[in-house]
Amino acid sequence: MTDTHFDLIAIGGGSGGLSVAQRAASYGAKAALIERDRMGGTCVIRGCVPKKMMWFGAEQLAAIKRAEGYAIDVTLNGVNWSELVAKREANIRGIENWYDGYLSDNKVTAIRGDAVIESVNPEGGGTIRVGDALYTADNIVIAVGGTPTVPDIPGADLGLTSDGFFELVNRPQRVAVVGAGYIAVELAGVLQAFGSDVSLLVRKHAPLRNFDPLMTDALVESISHQGIELVTDCTPTALARTADGIVIDNTARELAPFDAVIWAVGRKPLSGSLNLDTVGVVTDAAGYIPTDEWQETNVKGVFAIGDVTGRAQLTPVAIAAGRRLADRLYGGKPERKLNYDNIATVVFSHPPIGTVGLTEPEAKAEYGEDAVTVYQTRFTPMVDTFEESAPPTAMKLVTVGDDERVVGVHAIGHGVDEMIQGFAVAVRMGATKSDFDDTVAIHPTSSEELVTMR
Ligand code: NDP
Repeated sequence: MTDTHFDLIAIGGGSGGLSVAQRAASYGAKAALIERDRMGGTCVIRGCVPKKMMWFGAEQLAAIKRAEGYAIDVTLNGVNWSELVAKREANIRGIENWYDGYLSDNKVTAIRGDAVIESVNPEGGGTIRVGDALYTADNIVIAVGGTPTVPDIPGADLGLTSDGFFELVNRPQRVAVVGAGYIAVELAGVLQAFGSDVSLLVRKHAPLRNFDPLMTDALVESISHQGIELVTDCTPTALARTADGIVIDNTARELAPFDAVIWAVGRKPLSGSLNLDTVGVVTDAAGYIPTDEWQETNVKGVFAIGDVTGRAQLTPVAIAAGRRLADRLYGGKPERKLNYDNIATVVFSHPPIGTVGLTEPEAKAEYGEDAVTVYQTRFTPMVDTFEESAPPTAMKLVTVGDDERVVGVHAIGHGVDEMIQGFAVAVRMGATKSDFDDTVAIHPTSSEELVTMR
């Protein structure tokens, strides 16, 4: 006996779930969305959106520091972290509340609580329990996202995760950020910019070591220019609280105590509470849900999108996958699916990194050493003309074949976060180096370097 039947139920009120439910409803499908926590998911509540606000704050501080070079007499009297956090959270709450209207305006039924898939049907979809209520759907879309991981070492719970970072109403002064990915780099950069003394602890030689080597090297320079202490070959083995702060036993060297330790060592999928094993939805060893190119799991009518699939864990990817799935199921577009190639991303470091397509090592592995030609440049951006020292801007084009098709664009520097989107269109369309060269430059900008490289 079921309480309610829907054409589609999305589990998870983050970017993916909201997108697939809204798009399905726009075609007239009866859609519901189940969320157990705050509507908006990681990106809105404890990820991209609040992070970008902090990044903007950090960039304002950098601009104020740069002003002196332009003979502008500015005195920085301080930064009120707590006030900024309060304003940020009020804004986020506004977005969260806005979702209530958004869902009802779009005729999506919002269901609050923990979803458990009770059973699946051979013809597709199945039954979902939320508390005492049962709901059935012809199509179920799992979009539950992920959560930060914490190493299994003594004292690990003395550290925060990115979730805890967004709860900090006071800024810790001495901070260790442990990890080498997007989140580690971004949180380290924001905290240092706001005045903390940050040590970034990476277990290998550098952060973002899977990025193009030019980006990794320039990032290492820029974080050191920012004043962040980079501690390499460092794996924490235990955390302990002392009278002077949190101490970290590790494989590198003795480190001074910290007021806060932030784990940024990766994320894990939140698939564990859905009852997937029992109903036969396959997960991999880490709990990610593999799907085919149509986002369908091994069970008919049960789909997965977004971070829980483990592929390209980015908000716009979850949105794009969700919308395409709804287009296919209800919009009369049977071939709609997401192409996961050439997805542009930005790391909000200081300065940011923008990248799309293959790195030089990836291109060489895929096409062979001889087929790859790279063009690269490094320069001091004009905005830093009056600085005594400035982090480098560095850019690289990775091309393949005799026609030098551009398969990768990588850039670190002021403004690249807003630059890379357009170049992603060019890469997606198969532009060649000569197409770039034939494009008249905009002068004086940093972006002109991407169409004038020799
Ligand atoms: P990532 O997977 O990007 O990076 C985590 C890194 O931490 C690993 O690559 C690894 O690097 C290192 N690491 C893993 N385990 C340990 C350990 N036990 N001790 C020390 N270091 C360890 O994870 P994030 O959590 O940073 O980000 C998750 C995803 O979220 C990203 O992949 C990205 O897709 C997305 N994201 C995107 C953002 C954006 O678009 N701006 C911002 C934030 C997140 P190594 O092997 O080199 O040690």
